[in-house]
Amino acid sequence: MNIHEYQAKAVLSRYGVNVPKGKVADTPAQAEVIAEEFGTPVVIKAQIHAGGRGKGGGVKLAKDSTEARKYAHEIIGMTLVTPQTGPQGRKVKRVLVEQAGKIKKELYLGIIVDRAASQVVVMASTEGGMDIETVAANTPEKILKEWVDPAVGLVAFQARKLAFGLGIPKELTGKAVKLMTGVYNAFVDTDCSLVEINPLVLTEDGDIVALDAKMNFESNGLYRHQDIQALRDFDEEDPTETEASNHDLSYIRLDGNIGCMVNGAGLAMATMDMIKSCGGSPANFLDVGGGAGVEQVTNAFRLILSDAGVKAILVNIFGGIMRCDIIAEGVVAAAKSLGLSVPLVVRLEGTNVEKGKEILAASKLNIISAADMGDAARKVVLAAAGRAN
Ligand code: GDP
Ligand code: MN
Repeated sequence: MNIHEYQAKAVLSRYGVNVPKGKVADTPAQAEVIAEEFGTPVVIKAQIHAGGRGKGGGVKLAKDSTEARKYAHEIIGMTLVTPQTGPQGRKVKRVLVEQAGKIKKELYLGIIVDRAASQVVVMASTEGGMDIETVAANTPEKILKEWVDPAVGLVAFQARKLAFGLGIPKELTGKAVKLMTGVYNAFVDTDCSLVEINPLVLTEDGDIVALDAKMNFESNGLYRHQDIQALRDFDEEDPTETEASNHDLSYIRLDGNIGCMVNGAGLAMATMDMIKSCGGSPANFLDVGGGAGVEQVTNAFRLILSDAGVKAILVNIFGGIMRCDIIAEGVVAAAKSLGLSVPLVVRLEGTNVEKGKEILAASKLNIISAADMGDAARKVVLAAAGRAN
C-alpha cells in the first residue's frame, strides 16, 4: 500500500526524522493562509501517489502568499502527468504547502528489502533528486549500500559510514545518523517494503532535511497497523482492483485484451505466460482463490467484462479443493446474467471435471472448450484476434 508524501512525512517525523514545516491545503485560499502563517517562500507540492511531480509541473516555489494561492489554484484539480503516472495522468486533489529552505546539496536515501540477501538494505547516493533507476543503470558505483542485521538493527557506525560516503560535513554527521536511524526504525516498525527520501538535502543554514518522502507498506503486515491503514486513499487506486479486493479476489489490470480467470496465483502466472508465448496479451491477472463459489465466479466475470479492452476470455481451472462442476455452474450463471459479448474459452481439469463439462455443454452457451492449457491458450489468442478456431 502506498501513501501520500505529507502522510509519509508525518509518520517519519514521529521517528525523529527532520522534515520541513508543512500543512496540507484543499483549496487555494487555504494555501494562501498557510503561506502567510509560515512566512515565505514556500513550496506548493501536488499530492498524488506518483513521483516525478517536479518534472510534470506539480512542484512550484512561491515567493509570497499571493503566488502560493496562484500556484495552488493551478495545481489543485489539474491532471498531472509524470513519468510515473502513465499518459492518462492523475487528478490532484490537494497540495502540501511547505516552508522552503535554501538547498545546498541534494542526496538520495532509500531502504528496501533485499530478498536475495534476506536483509534490509539502506542505500544512499550523492545523486539526489534524480531518477535512482538511471543512477543504478549508468553509475552503480554511486549507490552506497549497507545491509542490516535484523537482530541488531542499523548500527551507528553503518550510518556514519554512509554519511562519510555521501560527503556530509563532519559537523552534520550526528544529525545524519539520527535521520537515517529514524528512517530505518520507521521502516521496520511499520512493515514497509520501501522508503525513499529523494532528495535528502543539506541546507545553506547547516541542516539536513527529508525534502521528499515515499513509503510503501507490505500489505500482509497492514493488519498490525490500523493507523497506517487509515491513510489509504482509494481515489489513488484502480477502482476495479479495489472492488476485487472487497470480493477477496486478487486482480491486477494489465494492458492486453485477453481476460483471464484462473484459480491459484501460480497457475494464473503460468496461464499468462502461455498466452504470451502464443502471441497474445493478457488483460489482467485474476486469481479467484481456492474455495470460490458461484458468487465469486460471477463477481470475477463481472470485473473482467467491465474492462472494455477485453476481446476474449480464458477460464483455466484446476479443480483440487475447488470442484469443476461448481466452476462450470458459476461460469454459466455469470455468462447468462451478465450477457457474454466476447468469445469464451474454458479449460477444466481435476475434481468432477466430467460433470463440469456436462454443465457447460447443457448450457447451450457459445463456449469453446479446450483439451489442455496449450490448446486453451492457442484458442483464446485466435479468438481475441477475431479469427475462427
Ligand atoms: P518529485 O519530483 O515528485 O520527486 O518531487 P520532489 O519533492 O522530490 O521535488 C522535486 C524537486 O523540487 C526537488 O528535487 C527539489 O529540487 C525541488 N524542491 C522540492 N522542495 C523544495 C524546497 O523546499 N525548496 C526548493 N528550493 N526546491 C524544492
Ligand atoms: Mn522526489
